[in-house]
Amino acid sequence: MAAKSQPNVSKAKSLDSVTNDRTASQGQWGRAWEVDWFSLGSIIFLLLCAPFIVYYFIMACDQYSCALTGPVVDIATGRARLSDIWAKTPPITRKAAQLYTLWVTFQVLLYTSLPDFCHKFLPGYVGGIQEGAVTPAGVVNKYQINGLQAWLLTHLLWFANAHLLSWFSPTIIFDNWIPLLWCANILGYAVSTFAMVKGYFFPTSAKDCKFTGNFFYNYMMGVEFNPRIGKWFDFKLFFNGRPGIVAWTLINLSFAAKQRELHGHVTNAMVLVNVLQAIYVIDFFWNETWYLKTIDICHDHFGWYLGWGDCVWLPYLYTLQGLYLVYHPVQLSTPHAMGVLLLGLVGYYIFRVANHQKDLFRRTDGRCLIWGKKPKVIECSYTSADGQRHHSKLLVSGFWGVARHFNYVGDLMGSLAYCLACGGGHLLPYFYIIYMAILLTHRCLRDEHRCASKYGRDWERYTAAVPYRLLPGIF
Ligand code: NDP
Repeated sequence: MAAKSQPNVSKAKSLDSVTNDRTASQGQWGRAWEVDWFSLGSIIFLLLCAPFIVYYFIMACDQYSCALTGPVVDIATGRARLSDIWAKTPPITRKAAQLYTLWVTFQVLLYTSLPDFCHKFLPGYVGGIQEGAVTPAGVVNKYQINGLQAWLLTHLLWFANAHLLSWFSPTIIFDNWIPLLWCANILGYAVSTFAMVKGYFFPTSAKDCKFTGNFFYNYMMGVEFNPRIGKWFDFKLFFNGRPGIVAWTLINLSFAAKQRELHGHVTNAMVLVNVLQAIYVIDFFWNETWYLKTIDICHDHFGWYLGWGDCVWLPYLYTLQGLYLVYHPVQLSTPHAMGVLLLGLVGYYIFRVANHQKDLFRRTDGRCLIWGKKPKVIECSYTSADGQRHHSKLLVSGFWGVARHFNYVGDLMGSLAYCLACGGGHLLPYFYIIYMAILLTHRCLRDEHRCASKYGRDWERYTAAVPYRLLPGIF
């Protein structure tokens, strides 16, 4: 499907720099103020169903060796009742509660009490105190960027335990996977509810709060933009990155350890999933400063979508491939494994280079080279809620000249690689690529809506210069 973006493509493309001649938006470009029926319906559906979707996947692995249709078929044919399935589901345990509390407390301590030292000795790494983007109310927040350090220390401890200390078994995460799910849910709901109450009664920046008048929408999409406790504990940065993304690689390592315990060896598919996802995770922390300029931080308010999503959805559903491989120790042929590796690495390359191009372009205010040339630029302006006028630039070169969200294409290729590593035996590990395709297409539309209201006619110039969203000639 072609994107809607017509006027004067060649003319817009030929300009290196186009100045905005029109008033852009008037400070209303953050998340929605009004809720339509479709959004409301989707939100209520997600609030009701998302926890069950996560439960269904994890339970299907635990009780049906990851056969997604297993529970439905059993119930439909009368072989099992819902109560039987529920009775076989492990409950929350004291051990899981202790583990989870220790885990989150450890991550909070690493986040709040250890200022970054990695940027002092790692060349090219940007950490320490950094500024975020201008919020719709015109605020610029400061962040303590120390995620890479937290990730490194956590993994050092993990490996020290596995090879020297032996405090706990490396299979500990797998062994407590469902009891931990209940703990993650408790935290996810607690933090989302707290953020909602905080938004109403003691917001960090009242001007950046949004109330739609609809309780469910406010709860799901958040009221406060950047809720904080004290000067540094930023909910969005903490919950988005840790505990979920730090845990991602540990969870995979625990699944690999379990595979070895059960089957005597770690398969090449498990190694591939561990390696490709670890690249993605390390990349995330290496570029945590860049992350301050992504939609999660620059646009989304902090509600259930981020709070519960980061605590439950991400660690449980992004790791399904590793979990699947514990039950199905797939060993890929060499050409298949090489194909998966290649797809994953090319996807990662596009993802990283596209994101880097935009970041470099914005940091240097366009004074940089993209693919060896001076970049093409669209000058744009917008107005924040305090009435202040700001200027910005849109990049029209490199991957940003190929399609308006080519970084998502790289992400999708990487996601597909994780799934293909699991072979073709079951649908369950393919959930990730289906989910990412929906998430990123929706995100792409959401972002375009936001950019259109933020930049007005300047955004139209960009869509004219780069007519496709994801895949040139297709969408
Ligand atoms: P982007 O990094 O694409 O950021 C979009 C923003 O960039 C826009 O809102 C606009 O912000 C600015 N922008 C858009 N076009 C241009 C341009 N041509 N030149 C300069 N600036 C531009 O989006 P995300 O934050 O969604 O994604 C970041 C990465 O994270 C992506 O690679 C994505 O794949 C990945 N991701 C992964 C997820 C996962 O669950 N694994 C979830 C979400 C994202 P401004 O207002 O500053 O102009």
